[in-house]
Amino acid sequence: MRKLNFSSGPATLPEQVLRHAQGAIWDLDGSGIGILEHSHRGKEFGRVLERAEAGIREVAGIGDEYAVLFVTAGATHHFSMVPENFLGERETADYCHTGVWSGKAIEEARRVGTAHIACTSAPSFAAVPSALTFSATPRYVHYTSNETIYGTQWRTPPTAPAPLVCDASSDLFSRPLDLTGHALVYAGAQKNLGPSGISLVIARKDFIENGRRDLPPLAQYRTYAAEHSMHNTPNTFGIYVIAEVVAWIREQGGLAAMQVRNARKAQVLYDFLDHSKAWSGHAEPASRSLMNVTFRGATKDLEERMLAHAEARGLSGLRGHRSVGGLRASLYNAFPEDGVHELVKLLDDVEHGR
Ligand code: PMP
Repeated sequence: MRKLNFSSGPATLPEQVLRHAQGAIWDLDGSGIGILEHSHRGKEFGRVLERAEAGIREVAGIGDEYAVLFVTAGATHHFSMVPENFLGERETADYCHTGVWSGKAIEEARRVGTAHIACTSAPSFAAVPSALTFSATPRYVHYTSNETIYGTQWRTPPTAPAPLVCDASSDLFSRPLDLTGHALVYAGAQKNLGPSGISLVIARKDFIENGRRDLPPLAQYRTYAAEHSMHNTPNTFGIYVIAEVVAWIREQGGLAAMQVRNARKAQVLYDFLDHSKAWSGHAEPASRSLMNVTFRGATKDLEERMLAHAEARGLSGLRGHRSVGGLRASLYNAFPEDGVHELVKLLDDVEHGR
């Protein structure tokens, strides 16, 4: 029996995508060779790559001024790749500090140049700050659109005096993509897009061109743009899965439909938490994430009891991140609405000793 998977990533994927992938591992599109076995230089994979990029551009409405890149690495890779490409030793980049992930990005920027903290919600990280203070001439302004661990999300991107760089790992394609002011958006794939170990980058071509030229080829975004993400063997299976996920998103009605469904799912859980005496949400209402709902029980014992009951009922992945504890329900695009109702029932049952 398949479980209800509330994992924060790698995370649940659409059944249709998994079934197609199952078939394609044996035989890709009637070619007699599976996706894991096809040469990345062959025409069959060429079609997969084209389908992935075209699907991404169509579903997110990405214009020709942006490059769409597949980078064989997780989002963490971009924490250092972004400053290495775009931040000079004597330059400053501004960072919005909203949790664990922005903290790691800031650490990497500081290895290269100066990172100015434009805003912070430390130490509780329960909200996305509303007031930002920028440095005199930031090279770029970095923010994390959805904080996966603390469960906060920017409703709209910040307004900034410099190009925006966004870590959108945990909410890319969960809602319409507003690229206004953005020079570069990156996301690890393992939440809403596909498997781990591959990231999607959407970046302005002119911004990429301004990056440093004296880095190794795979450390420059320029190389991925110039060589269609094929300087070396890409993660062919990852790109295949992303193409399938994007096709699924389109069939569901696109990013606007995703947003409506995601808002409805999260609302069910937040409404329950707001009315419960035993459970309480972490994030402030205006900053609540639609992707990762973080919450606590009135006692540690209640949380542990809930986790034990969850396991017995086939609900998996509800323990909070090891750095903050508590509980977390990740409700990415592919997570079924019924599953949220099952979680609410479980929380209610445990609260009332059932
Ligand atoms: N940024 C965010 C917002 C994340 O949620 C994660 C992973 N959970 C990362 C970065 C790091 O991704 P990876 O492990 O793929 O490097």
